[in-house]
Amino acid sequence: MAAYDVIVVGLGGMGSSAAYHLAARGRRVLGLERFQTVHSRGSSHGGSRIIRQAYFEDPAYVPLLLRAYELWEKLERDTGRDILSLTGGVFVGRPGSLTFAGSLRAAQEWGLPHEILDAGELRRRYPTFTPRPDDVALFEAKAGLVRPEETVAAHSRLAARHGADLRYEEPVLRWEALPDGVRVTTANGSYTAERLVICPGAWAPRLLPDLGVPITIERQVMYWFQPRDGVTAFEPERHPIYIHEDGEGAQIYGFPAIDGPQGGAKVAFFRRGQVCDPETIDRQVHAEEIQDMQDHLAGVLPTLPGRFLRAATCLYSVTPDKHFVIATHPEHPQVTVACGFSGHGFKFVPVVGEILADLATTGATEHPIGLFDPRREYA
Ligand SMILES: Cc1cc2nc3c(=O)[nH]c(=O)nc-3n(C[C@H](O)[C@H](O)[C@H](O)COP(=O)(O)OP(=O)(O)OC[C@H]3O[C@@H](n4cnc5c(N)ncnc54)[C@H](O)[C@@H]3O)c2cc1C
Repeated sequence: MAAYDVIVVGLGGMGSSAAYHLAARGRRVLGLERFQTVHSRGSSHGGSRIIRQAYFEDPAYVPLLLRAYELWEKLERDTGRDILSLTGGVFVGRPGSLTFAGSLRAAQEWGLPHEILDAGELRRRYPTFTPRPDDVALFEAKAGLVRPEETVAAHSRLAARHGADLRYEEPVLRWEALPDGVRVTTANGSYTAERLVICPGAWAPRLLPDLGVPITIERQVMYWFQPRDGVTAFEPERHPIYIHEDGEGAQIYGFPAIDGPQGGAKVAFFRRGQVCDPETIDRQVHAEEIQDMQDHLAGVLPTLPGRFLRAATCLYSVTPDKHFVIATHPEHPQVTVACGFSGHGFKFVPVVGEILADLATTGATEHPIGLFDPRREYA
């Protein structure tokens, strides 16, 4: 008999959640991570991630979000940590924009509570915004943020508490399917198990070369600014998370000042990244990039870029249709994969762990994951 029931490769956002759900179901779990626990070289760092239900990407995500919210609340209860904050959210754009019209469609299809604000009402409620007269906003009270580092730490700790053997700074060099299981080889040795769950983030092209999904790795930048008039107007009690789309379809998103007066408020472009390799990515953020963000904010949230505080890079793993890949490996029924989260996966972390545990233990899940089949036709 193999020493482990399941090996989980990659203990970032998705892998640590999978390790927890598997260990909580009594499985003997080995987790392998190439870096330390909670690091900043992948996709799950930077202090905050948006969470929302009126999902403009596709209403098919909504049932997964409803379950994710239940599991986020459970994670907070089980750990006693501050992970989820519902600040409310506004999704602003022209009436026909993806950000507004897509959010409205998901809200209407699923009967999600929401309000529609015209430009005047948006500005009255949140004076930090300077909308154009023809902008509209969908307000969702249940939107907010989760803390990625706290999440990875919480899932990892819970997994270990349920008996998972989590090993760090132990990169997986290769894996192979055996007739009755899998073998995983690291610099320290090789391990066998009945099942394998691979959550490699931006290393998917390296660890899953034969998956048949073209995944592009993109360098993204997060910026923190000290607002010009101080953080009062950006305090989480009075400022929502936001996504703003301009007339050309460019989206920025941002957060209230969640870490007090010194921490500033975070903002970023959604999807304006450069193709990169995670081994050679330029982690430096350059003066012209900071200037570009300041210029963009001048027309949207003019008081935000008072003083530049800091910036950091992060990686997106983008599929051609920007939908996730979550499935049993098409060639190997004993292998489960989760990758290609295309810059919007974090809010799903707890439910993805549950789905991966379902697939790795029973080969099926009741969650609707048809959209995430690696064998789909890509747009
Ligand atoms: C700037 C930015 C902003 C974002 N904003 C949002 C947001 O607001 N809302 C939202 O929902 N999502 C957001 N996302 C997306 C979300 O954060 C990601 O989809 C999610 O973090 C992906 O998790 P992951 O587990 O796939 O990757 P990771 O957390 O990077 O985990 C992959 C892990 O695998 C490990 N690994 C790789 N290769 C090996 C190997 N050979 N051996 C052992 N270990 C290995 C890596 O070291 C890493 O720890 C954002 C992402 C970025 C970068």
